[in-house]
Amino acid sequence: MTSVGALYLHIPFCRRKCHYCDFASVATSADDERLRLHVEQLMAQMEAAADEGLLGECKTAYIGGGTPTLLGANLLAELIAYVRRTCHQLCELSFEANPDSLCEGVLDSALGAGATRISIGVQSFYDEELEALGRLHTAEVARRCVRNAVMSGASVSVDLMCAIPRQTDESWQRTLDEAVGLGVGHVSVYPLAIEEGTAFGVRYGQRPPAWNDEDVQADRMEQAQDTLVAAGFARYEVASYARPDMDCKHNQAYWTGVPYLGLGVGAAGMLLSEQYDAARRVLTWLPKTQPNAARIRYETKGREVEFLKTREAWAEDLMLGMRMSQGVDASLVPPNVIESLEGRGLVQVECGRMVPTHDGWLLGNELYGALWDLA
Ligand code: SF4
Repeated sequence: MTSVGALYLHIPFCRRKCHYCDFASVATSADDERLRLHVEQLMAQMEAAADEGLLGECKTAYIGGGTPTLLGANLLAELIAYVRRTCHQLCELSFEANPDSLCEGVLDSALGAGATRISIGVQSFYDEELEALGRLHTAEVARRCVRNAVMSGASVSVDLMCAIPRQTDESWQRTLDEAVGLGVGHVSVYPLAIEEGTAFGVRYGQRPPAWNDEDVQADRMEQAQDTLVAAGFARYEVASYARPDMDCKHNQAYWTGVPYLGLGVGAAGMLLSEQYDAARRVLTWLPKTQPNAARIRYETKGREVEFLKTREAWAEDLMLGMRMSQGVDASLVPPNVIESLEGRGLVQVECGRMVPTHDGWLLGNELYGALWDLA
């Protein structure tokens, strides 16, 4: 089959860089003409991809960033409407939003154009924490924004961040409680990572601060799990919680081996060899495929391409599958590997599936590393 199952579009612009951010985005204003040029380029690439048959069976699309809402009401709606016109089989169309640029006009026009899901970068409901992260919005703006989004009837997710400066167990608890109280259907929870090349990397790279300690991260992730599960959310992925039927179909494509096309300067894609040939006529910088490549991964930033052989693709499927609570079909994993992982307390077998244990989630890198070693 030539078509991918999912489409990711990247918008590489933000109003200002957050102190911890290493995503591909540049700081600019909403009237920068590069915003329109970028959207036009995305549309041209989508048209070419559709002509190649890459989007005929595409079920989910995700407009991420950067800050897609910086495009403003008209340009964002134009892009969303174009995605709708180009991908006829879509069942979910998400866009990322930042509270400082998600005014009602943007929300209404994005939903009117066909978006079904909004993922809002809240991070915290405390002003002093938001300020320390370099976020532009206040807690009150975030609250108003989430409330409006929930009232619109769209599927609403919020991103929350733990192990951040000035955060305490109490303030984290209150942030979690507020998200639940505002009626969102989905919460993504991440510990802050101090990355090289960011303002935090410069400030803390040599001497990691106590607020970001690994034990603090683990405790806060556990606190999130306790709170969200008690409130009726299911933890369906290591960092993702959803009320019934509110899980993100697009993100699940990433973890279940569904091929996806990524467009834009900071996008990633995963294609099977038959799709890769078609994608090379859209993204002309992609090199020729390699013999025995079963799966091809690429990143547009840095133009990196990785060719995976069948065994590597299999190990990758196992590794990604273990990010999810449903785990993987146990019959796909050699019995001695299951035994070893069980012995280390990282997995258990339930109803024919190998699923992560509590420790398996906490020690994710150890678990994923052991499965990747099978390649
Ligand atoms: S809004 Fe998101 S993408 Fe933009 S600078 Fe902040 S963390 Fe990075």
